[in-house]
Amino acid sequence: MISFLDLKKINEPYESAFQEKLKTVLHNGWYILGEELHTFEKSFAAFCNKKHCIGTGNGFDALVLIFKAYIELGKLKNGDEVIVPANTFIASILAVKQAGLVPVLVEPKIETYTINPDLIQEKITPNTKAILAVHLYGQLAEMNAIQEIAVKNNLLLIEDAAQSHGVQESHKKYLNSAIAYSFYPGKNLGCLGDGGAVVTDDEELAKMLFSLRNYGSEKKYHTDFIGVNSRLDELQASFLNLKLPHLNRDNEKRRAVAKRYLKEIKNDRIILPFWDFSNNHVFHLFVIRTEKRDELQQYLALNNIQTVIHYPIPPHRQKAFSDWNELSFPITEKIHDEVLSLPMSPVLTEEEVAFVIEILNRY
Ligand SMILES: *Cc1c(COP(=O)(O)O)cnc(C)c1O
Repeated sequence: MISFLDLKKINEPYESAFQEKLKTVLHNGWYILGEELHTFEKSFAAFCNKKHCIGTGNGFDALVLIFKAYIELGKLKNGDEVIVPANTFIASILAVKQAGLVPVLVEPKIETYTINPDLIQEKITPNTKAILAVHLYGQLAEMNAIQEIAVKNNLLLIEDAAQSHGVQESHKKYLNSAIAYSFYPGKNLGCLGDGGAVVTDDEELAKMLFSLRNYGSEKKYHTDFIGVNSRLDELQASFLNLKLPHLNRDNEKRRAVAKRYLKEIKNDRIILPFWDFSNNHVFHLFVIRTEKRDELQQYLALNNIQTVIHYPIPPHRQKAFSDWNELSFPITEKIHDEVLSLPMSPVLTEEEVAFVIEILNRY
């Protein structure tokens, strides 16, 4: 069986180092907001070429806290509209809602699966105050075009990079931006539980985030803001400290798998993802499209190849968003009907990749 994502195999090389870290943290007797987190925040900020990193309990909270921090700083207020891609993991949209803001959906491009910048302007109203760009499946959204719109309309630009660790670093820095990351085990940089972070160059925002993630207090038992409890714990930070140095290498391995899939899969019934072979993609997922998606998934399963659908139901068709259920987003709907994610990870072997290609070419 070729698994879609073998997390056990990904973490196996770190086993003895993890155990050493567990011992160290255990013996330190200090489990929250300590040295390991401090080290990780410094290293991850440097890795992202940003001044500040604020560890959070998960990626969802990283997003919510960015919005809440901007609200505390008076740059956003309850009911403001935020442009989001109609095609994204539900967390991006739920985070906007959770912060008391109003998500406004914009269709993606079918080739890249990321938000279509040409369709943003028409959705902007006097209440629009921010754009949330999502680098879905590991591919950088069209940031130059998006930034231009943000600047022209005086909007905040926030990035959801939960699927794209390592992608922005090859690009220039964007104005205004705060970037949210997740370290959920299956992400390109994953810990052994929940974890997340925000990176930013904005000192005022960083200060607010450090406070909000820890009950809104800078000084213990002094509450300055309506904060929450969302901290990246010492143990998870210690695991991330071990894995971060290998992230670029792992992303290179993912790109190597993607290159083979793109060059060697030859089947008229399968539409391969667009990639210009630049560093703008870290292939969190390798997402193909095909008209009879369920049939292809079954065929692959019969041949011992595990695949996953990201995602089966578009956000606007979810039960939780009953107000949106009647809306029409044809590109988003087509994507949800046709996509299938092939096995993708830094631990796939040459033989496994060759086998997936062979089976697909025979379909
Ligand atoms: C995983 C993910 C999140 C949320 O991260 P968690 O750590 O699971 O809370 C947000 N946005 C996107 C696009 C994701 O893939």
